[in-house]
Amino acid sequence: MRYRELGSTGIKVSEVGFGGEWLTGTPGQAREMLERAHELGVNVVDCWMCDPHVRSNLGYGITPHKDDWVIQGQIGSVWQDGQYTRTRDVTLVRASFEDELERLGVDHFDLGIIHYVDDDEDFERCFGGPFLDYVTKLKDAGTIGHIGLSTHRPEIALRAVKTGIVETLLFSCNPAFDIMPASAQLEDLLAEPESYSVGGTGIDPVRERLYATCERRCVGITVMKPFAGGRLLDASLSPFGVALTPKQCIHYALTRPAVASVLAGYATVGQLEEAVSYEDATTDELDYASVLAGAPAHGYAGQCTYCGHCAPCTMGIEINMVNKLADLARMQDEVPDSVRGHYEALKVHADACVHCHACEPRCPFGVPIAERMDEAAELFA
Ligand code: SF4
Ligand code: SF4
Repeated sequence: MRYRELGSTGIKVSEVGFGGEWLTGTPGQAREMLERAHELGVNVVDCWMCDPHVRSNLGYGITPHKDDWVIQGQIGSVWQDGQYTRTRDVTLVRASFEDELERLGVDHFDLGIIHYVDDDEDFERCFGGPFLDYVTKLKDAGTIGHIGLSTHRPEIALRAVKTGIVETLLFSCNPAFDIMPASAQLEDLLAEPESYSVGGTGIDPVRERLYATCERRCVGITVMKPFAGGRLLDASLSPFGVALTPKQCIHYALTRPAVASVLAGYATVGQLEEAVSYEDATTDELDYASVLAGAPAHGYAGQCTYCGHCAPCTMGIEINMVNKLADLARMQDEVPDSVRGHYEALKVHADACVHCHACEPRCPFGVPIAERMDEAAELFA
């Protein structure tokens, strides 16, 4: 298992993490799943589901290696009348949060995630008044190590990151969502797949700006919904008209800027093992790019997805990295020092391009690479 720094938190998380919402079976099944995950090197777990049974199962599952787990606790996910709900009522939030600590058998969470903020009105409720006071007190008391936020909406994520309060995001990231307009209601799209059509302009600019902003501000992202609710794994449901594999979806998410871990949910040990086998996958197995480029419908023409298929460059330029850094730099009025630092650390810079065009036929997305190298050279000059 490879591990990545989660932004500036100082916490290292496994590239493949554990979304605990499917732990609805017996405690023994949960223990088996989490023990296997631990054995495979998975070290980060999130459980937004506040169902007491699921929480207790998760607690039982992590017991043998409790101290090894990085736990994302959720603030605002509440079990009421036998159902999940979310609220900012601090009395209810506190009771639910304390219940989560107790059922998981811990006295603190490494990360305290402000649960599921998807609209501006709710954002205002969360980032002012008693709810934020409560979250801040949890952090001051060490009951949570760092404050995070979960959302499906890139504009909300950007607002949260810009407060300077939020140190990590739990964000829905996959190639289908990334090309949807930022304003799209993803839950509605998942519920009504027929309303989901692919645009033609590549990654939505607001989402792109979010990834760039997180990278620049050192806000680490853990990913939810890497398979778009399973739709990307089924050609008949995928907006691209072709199925991707779990490994390809995980690879897509892990190649976005600032992403540290992908938290898929697993119903079986087999699904968990398949996700973790990402770590040993061959380049061909990870190749989401060719699948998307050859799909009946895709919106990435001319856009670099940082897949790396164009390598090797005649002059030794890391083309995908140059493109990624150039895209990150373009999001700002001025090239951020951190991005410039990464660029300068590259062994060969974009201005070494001799326009041989040897790389271009290898790009599945028809990116005019030599032109992009010139643009990058100018940008970082
Ligand atoms: S066109 Fe430029 S980037 Fe592409 S292989 Fe030639 S030198 Fe490398
Ligand atoms: S230029 Fe094309 S092949 Fe190269 S990393 Fe970008 S999308 Fe992939």
